[in-house]
Amino acid sequence: MPEELLSKEDCARCRQCCAFESYSLWDTPLITPGLKAEILSLRPKQEFLSREGCFLLKMQREPEGDLYLCPMLDRRHGCILGDKKPFDCRIFPFRVMLLGDRRVIALSPECPEVSGRPIAVIAERCRELEAAIFAEADKHSEFVKPYQRGFIVLAAEERR
Ligand code: SF4
Repeated sequence: MPEELLSKEDCARCRQCCAFESYSLWDTPLITPGLKAEILSLRPKQEFLSREGCFLLKMQREPEGDLYLCPMLDRRHGCILGDKKPFDCRIFPFRVMLLGDRRVIALSPECPEVSGRPIAVIAERCRELEAAIFAEADKHSEFVKPYQRGFIVLAAEERR
C-alpha cells in the first residue's frame, strides 16, 4: 500500500523487513487461513504456528547469528507471494497497534529506506491510507498488535 513511500525497487534492494532477530519475532506477518492455503499450494511442507485464529510462518534460525529469514523470501526474486503478501507486509512500514484503548497507525523504526524521509511526507501518506488500513483491521482484529516503544504514532482512530 505505501508504494509512494517505498518503490518495489527500494524493497527489492533492502528486504530488511523479511528478516527477524529473535527480539522482533513478534512482528512476523500474521497469515490468515485463506493465505495459509495459498502458501501450502506453493510450499506443501511449510509449517505454521497457530496464533489467535491465524497463523505464523515457522522460521528457521540462520546458521550464523541471531537471524530468522522469512521462508517466503526468495533471495533472488524477493517475496514469492507477490500481490498476495500478508497484510503486515503490504502496509509495512506502518503497523496497526493498540495504544491504551485506541487503535493507532504507527511507523516501524525498522525500515532504513523510509527512516530517511521527511516525517511530514510519511504522515501525509499515512493520512491517505488511514481509512483503508483501519477498514482492513476491522475485518481481522488479530492484525492489531500491542503498541511497542520506538514506534512513531502517526494516526489514532476516533473513539468509538
Ligand atoms: S511474506 Fe513476503 S514480504 Fe512478508 S516478510 Fe515474508 S518474504 Fe517478506
